[in-house]
Amino acid sequence: MTRPVVTRFAPSPTGFLHIGGGRTALFNWLYARKHGGKMLLRIEDTDRQRSTQPAIDAILDGLKWLGIEWDGDTVYQFARAARHREVAEQLLAEGKAYRCYATADELAAMRDKARAEGRSKLYDGTWRDRDPAEAPEGVKPTIRLKAPLSGETVIDDQVQGRVAWQNENLDDLVLLRGDGTPTYMLAVVVDDHDMDVTHVIRGDDHLINAARQKQIYDAMGWELPVMAHIPLIHGPDGSKLSKRHGALGVDAYRAMGYLPAALRNYLVRLGWSHGDQEIFTTQEMIDAFDLPAIGRSAARFDFAKLESLNGHYIRQSDDQSLVTLLEDLLHYIPQGPAIAARLTETTRAQLLQAMPGLKERAKTLLELLDNAGFILAGRPLAVDPKGQAVLTPETRELIGRLRAALEDVSPWTAATTEAAMRAFADQAGLKLGAVAQPLRVALTGRTTSPGIFDVLAVLGRDECLSRLADQAA
Ligand code: GLU
Repeated sequence: MTRPVVTRFAPSPTGFLHIGGGRTALFNWLYARKHGGKMLLRIEDTDRQRSTQPAIDAILDGLKWLGIEWDGDTVYQFARAARHREVAEQLLAEGKAYRCYATADELAAMRDKARAEGRSKLYDGTWRDRDPAEAPEGVKPTIRLKAPLSGETVIDDQVQGRVAWQNENLDDLVLLRGDGTPTYMLAVVVDDHDMDVTHVIRGDDHLINAARQKQIYDAMGWELPVMAHIPLIHGPDGSKLSKRHGALGVDAYRAMGYLPAALRNYLVRLGWSHGDQEIFTTQEMIDAFDLPAIGRSAARFDFAKLESLNGHYIRQSDDQSLVTLLEDLLHYIPQGPAIAARLTETTRAQLLQAMPGLKERAKTLLELLDNAGFILAGRPLAVDPKGQAVLTPETRELIGRLRAALEDVSPWTAATTEAAMRAFADQAGLKLGAVAQPLRVALTGRTTSPGIFDVLAVLGRDECLSRLADQAA
């Protein structure tokens, strides 16, 4: 009987949810969903010095924001240390592991010697067959796996293909440290086994660990999960991903105004492809996702592509959900509280009304918020330097006359204000643009904005007349 698919995401909470971690989680989630299985979450908090609660919170938050829901309770690795020890003891009892009494100095000397002789195996196996009765006083032994001395350790990886290691090059790895704490290698294997994990999908920086872990599986007689080691994300020039090139936490993408759906879509295509399809609904991703279609070479991060996808998702979003997303964004940006203070029933309604025009032009929610600034700005409006240049004594005087011409417009709509403005421009012998530009500056504080008649309609009569009065000579 084939086992139901169980994947897991196993972050170490030593920092935020990195963009690469987000992609690993997404792949695990898609694979589980595709096969009607489960994705579990295991927080690998065994490094007590570096694991922090804020990092755990950031990981959980980041996953939730990305829309990746894990199944069941979160497993905390540290809490399972007794079980890890039990497995090490079992291996010891079965003669598949042994106590190693080598001191730190002895180990250092062995390493130096191995390196000088160009050998990758750093531990010489001294205590493998030595009688524990010879153990020196006062040394707390580690427990090491009696790894095979010859032959190969082979992983049939879904992404990397067949990968083989010569056992003669692999050390007898430490399972339990002298202080009784389990090593990472042991903990991962025991947890994956106990959690019934069938598929391990993770970064290819763990490929070498897979060899060591396979030896533990073999020693325990446990079935190795299917392995899929995905190439890491690199910068646009092929080098290691730097901060400038996107090596940021998922929270940073949220604060930059990316939509979770856009980031998901971007991440799924980062190293995985399905023909030349670029845009995927969540269901399409789930249906199409598969491990062998993940490429073997490093994916390159491309901000421009992410932006353009994000623009697509913004345009596709309905207006009300964009207003909600903008409000949510305010919690994550420095200027958020000041803007939030200006959210009222009126400004929310204005945002909604302006959204069809605003969303056409924005690649991120930050841009959208910026373009919507004229709605959320308080009077008297701050006018940017380009706008200041438009506000001369002549144009201020023009604004005063225009205000008078608009005063009686009723009802106040884009069409009626347009008609009034055209009539005004005709009468003054001016081109429409010569009137529209000072008007735009007076209403938005800027020289670019959504269509000026839409701005008039969205702000409404009273607000427009007040803003014009603020700038009129
Ligand atoms: N905790 C490891 C990491 O964050 C992942 C371990 C694994 O997936 O096996 O890199």
